[in-house]
Amino acid sequence: MEKILILGCRQAMNATCIACSRCLVGFNRKEGAFEAYKDQDAELIALLDCGGCPGATVVTRLAQAKLWNAPMNEKPTKIHVAPCITMHCPHKDTILQKTRAKAGCEVIEGTHPYLPDNIFG
Ligand code: SF4
Repeated sequence: MEKILILGCRQAMNATCIACSRCLVGFNRKEGAFEAYKDQDAELIALLDCGGCPGATVVTRLAQAKLWNAPMNEKPTKIHVAPCITMHCPHKDTILQKTRAKAGCEVIEGTHPYLPDNIFG
């Protein structure tokens, strides 16, 4: 059973990417980067923000998620980094480097595929 944690942007999650629903729907439909779980059991166990600019506290955020989920004995086997970070964050490289260095599980860039080609076209 894969246990999925989605890592997103503190400024975007819910505030501008309303309700984080694109990531949630993408997971439910096993589309985008979640297509990898079409033929295997996977659960979404956490939606975690980066801790805020300039991404320096992302490792602390992961540690907080670990402590908070410890009573339920839940921890991620995969971390998916959302488009709000991979496509829009000026500190993306810092966040990815720190997360990969400390997560202790696979870190995958990408979640949902619902990315418009343009705004007004
Ligand atoms: S560091 Fe990047 S992902 Fe985090 S709040 Fe700032 S812009 Fe968003």
